[in-house]
Amino acid sequence: MITGPGLLFVVSGPSGAGKDTLVEALREQLPRLRYSVSATTREPRAGEHDGEHYFFLTREAFEARRAHDGFLEWREYNGNLYGTPRDFVERTLAEGYDLIMKPEVNGALAIKAAFPDAVLIFLVPDRFSHLRERLLARRTETNEEIARRLEIAREEMRFIRSFDYLVINEQGNSQNAVRDLSAVLHAERFRIHRFGDESLGTIEQS
Ligand code: 5GP
Repeated sequence: MITGPGLLFVVSGPSGAGKDTLVEALREQLPRLRYSVSATTREPRAGEHDGEHYFFLTREAFEARRAHDGFLEWREYNGNLYGTPRDFVERTLAEGYDLIMKPEVNGALAIKAAFPDAVLIFLVPDRFSHLRERLLARRTETNEEIARRLEIAREEMRFIRSFDYLVINEQGNSQNAVRDLSAVLHAERFRIHRFGDESLGTIEQS
């Protein structure tokens, strides 16, 4: 049953924390959950498809879209531009669907400023050193890029307190983190203010 605008979930945290894998697992469990595909100017990695993992744009195309207010937020990350397409997010929420996205930390905070009702979830590995191991294991970045991502990660960790939830992705037990994310999504539906005055009035008088 669709009852009003959908909920917006923002999963963020440092690169290598496992955002991609966990959000994918969550989407398999919750097929009605919509996913906001970001735009980026970075090159596709092996196995990444345009329109599915990202909209891969040239810098010119990205900048043109940005100039037309096409992004809810955008950031330069490690030399590439990343942005959240505005239309899809606004339309999907207005249609009553819940939506999940996974920007880096500054992007998450910008989304919260635009949608104060958004639920911000910070995802961390159980040990910072696991970030490096994960980035090395996926073999998609050069050593320099990995070093830069770890530097950014250190900065990003300083923003934990601005988030609503903290989920720890324990090495070798990612199913627990998927369960925890799922619990957050589930519980958020039952916050009193989500019911709206009309529904609450009816419940009070029933
Ligand atoms: P990657 O190159 O590993 O796919 O992404 C690099 C970083 O950019 C990750 O932390 C990822 O969460 C973030 N990112 C992906 N899409 C967006 C977006 O639309 N906006 C922002 N601000 N960050 C994004």
